[in-house]
Amino acid sequence: MSHALRAAEFLRDAERARWHDGSLWSLREKRDRAAAAVPDWESLREAAAALKRHVLAELPFYLTRFEERAQAHGAVVHWARDAAEHNQIVEGLLREAGARRVVKSKSMLTEECGLNPHLEARGIEIVDTDLGERIVQLRHERPSHIVMPAIHLRRQEIGALFHAELGTPEGESDPTALTLAARHDLRARFLGAQAGLTGVNFAIAETGGIVVCTNEGNADLGTVLPPLHIACMGIEKLIPRAADLPVFLRLLARSATGQAQTAYTSHFHGPRPGGALHIVLVDNGRSGLRARAEFAEALTCIRCGACMNTCPVFRRSGGHSYDAVIPGPIGSVLEPARAPSAHASLPYACSLCGSCRDVCPVRIDLPKQLLAWRAELSQGAPGGALRRAGLRVARFAFQRPRVYALVGALARRVARVLPERWLAGRWNPWTRGRALPPTPPHSFRALYARRRR
Ligand code: SF4
Repeated sequence: MSHALRAAEFLRDAERARWHDGSLWSLREKRDRAAAAVPDWESLREAAAALKRHVLAELPFYLTRFEERAQAHGAVVHWARDAAEHNQIVEGLLREAGARRVVKSKSMLTEECGLNPHLEARGIEIVDTDLGERIVQLRHERPSHIVMPAIHLRRQEIGALFHAELGTPEGESDPTALTLAARHDLRARFLGAQAGLTGVNFAIAETGGIVVCTNEGNADLGTVLPPLHIACMGIEKLIPRAADLPVFLRLLARSATGQAQTAYTSHFHGPRPGGALHIVLVDNGRSGLRARAEFAEALTCIRCGACMNTCPVFRRSGGHSYDAVIPGPIGSVLEPARAPSAHASLPYACSLCGSCRDVCPVRIDLPKQLLAWRAELSQGAPGGALRRAGLRVARFAFQRPRVYALVGALARRVARVLPERWLAGRWNPWTRGRALPPTPPHSFRALYARRRR
């Protein structure tokens, strides 16, 4: 099913679509206020973009340096070519430690690798401890947003879920009461876990240290209580020096939620006394993406989610409409690289307004990459010949202002009298899952000329 059809399903619940849009837009506004309060904001973005692009260019050097320094602190470093290897490494470490339960703080990489179903199928309990992640785990669905995994749910729905799963009173939907119930349930699971698993926000090549940012402190509890800490990271998470970290920390939380800092920024340099730290470095297609000049920049993403909060398509279609681990503008670039035919509709889930590029803290030119995907995926796609013929006609008209004006005037007249089913019938794939806008009585150029008079 294409993104447009899944979006149409989401939009059937008009009330949900309205507050989803509003909630995300309020985050965008908070982000704007937070950014405006930092006088050197644009310089920070520039520095972050330059640093990440430099690391990407010199990735083998920084990876080797990071491995050496992390090992010097007593961490064990593993390399995984793909998701299957990552899951086997993690499973092997858990089996070696005799772990039957692992508590996990938010990690989009483990979502990408399908770690939860892999471990559950082998009898190892894995508990998501970030509140939003725990909610979607209990609902057996994937996160709909990379920073706010349960943003698509009403508190009443969470109340009903907790009543069924955690035994809260029926009808209880007070956020504080629900949070306390989740905390109570999770506390017992933390205490009974034999291993803690975290993602990695930044890995510092100079020191071999890793940095994990959370708002709930769950990564800290999950790594302080059990003796085994497994940290899973994509190979693109590196930054060169400890001195570079503040650039990213100042950008990350402000871009994500408008906070000055995440509530917890935890640094790990080797295992805690008596414990073990294993770091799994995962490629899973990243080297291939890095080798493609038109898409490599997507690997500089720091997963702040700002492009989702601002995107008019994401806000009005919901994260699940992307049917992907990473939704939104950045997901529409990354996911086709993983599975082009499964995600061929995602580069079209975009109005090319450029808002994502304007807010991205590392200045990724997402619209440009989405256009590059459209060009690539349309080659050999079903209906591609018809589309190319249509575009040739459009190009002819766009290059000739008089022809364009004439075609526009004709189209406006014809569209007004033709029955809608003729324009939006089954023959027209564009209108499957999309509504035709009302035909305007006047062209933009006519309105513009009138205004100028
Ligand atoms: S692409 Fe940019 S805005 Fe989107 S999540 Fe990544 S860093 Fe944030």
